[in-house]
Amino acid sequence: KGRGQCRGGGLTGLPLPLQVMLGGAWFTRAFGDPATTAPATLLQRAQAAAREQLGLVAAPARAIVRVQQACIPQYTLGHWQRTERISRFLAEQQLPLSLVGASYAGVSVNDCIASAKAAVGRLLGG
Ligand SMILES: Cc1cc2nc3c(=O)[nH]c(=O)nc-3n(C[C@H](O)[C@H](O)[C@H](O)COP(=O)(O)OP(=O)(O)OC[C@H]3O[C@@H](n4cnc5c(N)ncnc54)[C@H](O)[C@@H]3O)c2cc1C
Repeated sequence: KGRGQCRGGGLTGLPLPLQVMLGGAWFTRAFGDPATTAPATLLQRAQAAAREQLGLVAAPARAIVRVQQACIPQYTLGHWQRTERISRFLAEQQLPLSLVGASYAGVSVNDCIASAKAAVGRLLGG
């Protein structure tokens, strides 16, 4: 993941905080071993993406690069069928277990909040 701050990136010329997330399941193929990838390589790639995809040509005034391994679940083929099957099983067996969080029904914060709300609703009989 790369995070940079570009001055003059927007129309106002005010600092623009920008977060670029790189890699995911393709990290090793693109950059090699996450434990040894040079931060400068990741920053360069993040800057190139910001330039090519957003037209931000200014160099960042400050940049922080962090490699966070396995930090966001990446669903594999058949994920939804699997989670539906598990949910059906839990309901059939009446098991007091709720599956909530990024591993199950969407990785965004919004998804996690929505699935937590739905789970609480079910517990309250809604
Ligand atoms: C760098 C980064 C940037 C992101 N940016 C965005 C974004 O801009 N917008 C967006 O929507 N989503 C974003 N996400 C994704 C989103 O933040 C996560 O998918 C979401 O927060 C996951 O929520 P969660 O409750 O499933 O897990 P977490 O938030 O990881 O919560 C799990 C909790 O369980 C605790 N825990 C773990 N093991 C144990 C244990 N054995 N016993 C007790 N507690 C334990 C942990 O300490 C943690 O507090 C980002 C994620 C990352 C990593």
